[in-house]
Amino acid sequence: MKILVSGASVAGPALAYWLHRHGFDCTVVERATSLRDSGHAVDFRGEALAVLDRMGVLEAVRAHDTAMGDATLIDREGRGYATLPAVIFAGELEILKGDLTRILHQATQEFTEYVFGDSIAVLEQSADGVRVTFDSGRVRDFDLVVGADGLHSNTRGLVFGREDRFVRHLGIYSAIFSTDNYLGLKNTGWLYSVPDRAVNIFSARDSTEVRVALHFASGPLEYNRHDVTEHKRIVAEHFAGTGWEVPGLLRAMAAADDVYFAANAQVVMDRWHDGRVVLLGDAGYCAAPTSGRGTSQALIGAYVLAGELAAADGRHTEAFAAYEREMRGFVDEHQRVGREWAQRYFIDSLTQETIDAAVAAATQGGTDELVTLREYSLADR
Ligand SMILES: Cc1cc2nc3c(=O)[nH]c(=O)nc-3n(C[C@H](O)[C@H](O)[C@H](O)COP(=O)(O)OP(=O)(O)OC[C@H]3O[C@@H](n4cnc5c(N)ncnc54)[C@H](O)[C@@H]3O)c2cc1C
Repeated sequence: MKILVSGASVAGPALAYWLHRHGFDCTVVERATSLRDSGHAVDFRGEALAVLDRMGVLEAVRAHDTAMGDATLIDREGRGYATLPAVIFAGELEILKGDLTRILHQATQEFTEYVFGDSIAVLEQSADGVRVTFDSGRVRDFDLVVGADGLHSNTRGLVFGREDRFVRHLGIYSAIFSTDNYLGLKNTGWLYSVPDRAVNIFSARDSTEVRVALHFASGPLEYNRHDVTEHKRIVAEHFAGTGWEVPGLLRAMAAADDVYFAANAQVVMDRWHDGRVVLLGDAGYCAAPTSGRGTSQALIGAYVLAGELAAADGRHTEAFAAYEREMRGFVDEHQRVGREWAQRYFIDSLTQETIDAAVAAATQGGTDELVTLREYSLADR
C-alpha cells in the first residue's frame, strides 16, 4: 500500500517509521522548504519514552536532553518566591522540538520519500484510492492519506471542513523566540506572572541562549498568521507597561528572527477519519501547549495508527475505527488537562500545595494508563 502523509514535524516522520516497519510505502509531503527548527521545548514521560525506545531513537533524543533543572517562580515585584521542580514542566526528558524533528527525519529518510516545499491542493477519494493534486501541479495516486499537518491542518480543511468548526481557542496567545543568554541562566528558568500576562525564560543550547515565551490572555484576535511584524506589534501592545525584565525582553523580541506566535487552541472532532483519509497528532486532536502532552499524543498516535493498519491487514475502515478507540480516552483526558491549565495560567502566586499536587501528578504516571502500547507484529523489513 502507498500512503501519503502531510506534515514532517513529529507525527508525520514517526508514522513514516512505523509504516515502514509494517511493510507499507510512505511519502511525506511538507509545505516548508526544509525541516522546521521550531524553538520551543517538548518533553516526554511514560509511554512516549517507550515509543522512542522501540523506534531505536531514545539514545539520540537523550543526547539532546536540555538537562533542565528546577525553575524559579517570580512574583509581580520581581522577587523569586518558590521553586518549580523540573519534572512539572520538563517531564523525564526534554528536548527542543527542532532537534526531535531532525532525529525522526534522520531515522526515516533512507526508506521514506520526503517531498519538501509542496502541499496537497486537491484530494479525490474513490473506492480504489485517493487521487492527490499538489500545489506544484503534480498528480499522484495513493491508497490512503494521513493529515499530520498540525493545528491548522490543510488535510482537515480539505476533507472535514472549515477550521472554525473544530478549533477551540483557550483564551491565551503566546510568542516564543530565542535570544542571547544576557541574564546568565544556567540550566534553569524563571517564570514571571501577573494578571493576564506571564513570561517564561529558560536557558537553552548549553546555556548559550535563552528561549523566551511571552503569554497574554485575550479572546480570539484577527491577524495575518504569516505577518511576523504584526505579531510583534500585538505582543508589544499587550505587554506595554509591564515591569520586571519585560522591557528588555520586548527589545530582544523586536530584534529576534525566530518569533513564533500562536493561539493556545485545541482541535475537537467527533471522528478523525473520513473514507481513506485520517488525521494524526495536532491535526486531529491538538490538546494545546497547556496540556504538555501534544508530542506524546503525536508519537503514540503514530505507533497505534500504523499498528492497527497492519493488524487489519490494510483494511483501512477497520483500522481507523480501532485507532480511534485506542486513542480517544487518552486524548480526552489531555484535552481536559489542557483546558484546566489554561484557566489557571495567569496566577501570580502558586501555593506550595498546588506545586506539590503538580509534582505528584507528574510523577505518578499521569495519563499513561489510558493507553496501552499493544504489541503489533512487525513485517520483515
Ligand atoms: C509553544 C508550544 C509549546 C509546547 N510545549 C509542549 C511540551 O512541553 N510538551 C509537549 O508534549 N508538547 C508541547 N507542545 C505541543 C507540540 O509541539 C505538538 O503537540 C506537536 O508538535 C504535534 O506534532 P504534529 O506533528 O502533530 O504537528 P506539528 O508539530 O504542528 O507539525 C505539523 C507539520 O505540518 C506542516 N504543514 C502545515 N501545513 C502543511 C501543508 N499544507 N502541507 C504539508 N505540510 C504542512 C508544518 O510545517 C509542520 O511541519 C507545544 C506546542 C507549542 C506551540
